[in-house]
Amino acid sequence: MGFINKLGKGLKGAIKAVRSDEYQINSVDINCIHCGHQHFDEGKAQLNTAFLTFINADWANQSASVLVCKNCSYIMWFGKTPGKKV
Ligand SMILES: [Zn+2]
Repeated sequence: MGFINKLGKGLKGAIKAVRSDEYQINSVDINCIHCGHQHFDEGKAQLNTAFLTFINADWANQSASVLVCKNCSYIMWFGKTPGKKV
């Protein structure tokens, strides 16, 4: 159990985290509420509506995070950015 061995394990962990498509918020794993799947594509969405622009309230526009279930394609919306599960 030398230094190289430990380094290798650390690298594997880092690569796994980068490739991970599992997410959590507040230390709670995110499951698809439709099918229970835990693998998602992450995206950003602007909470921008024609109505808000029309009434001159662009200040109210915010962005949200969306996770698209890779199994059933259900889209879940989050007000803050989900962290990747390590
Ligand atoms: Zn799903």
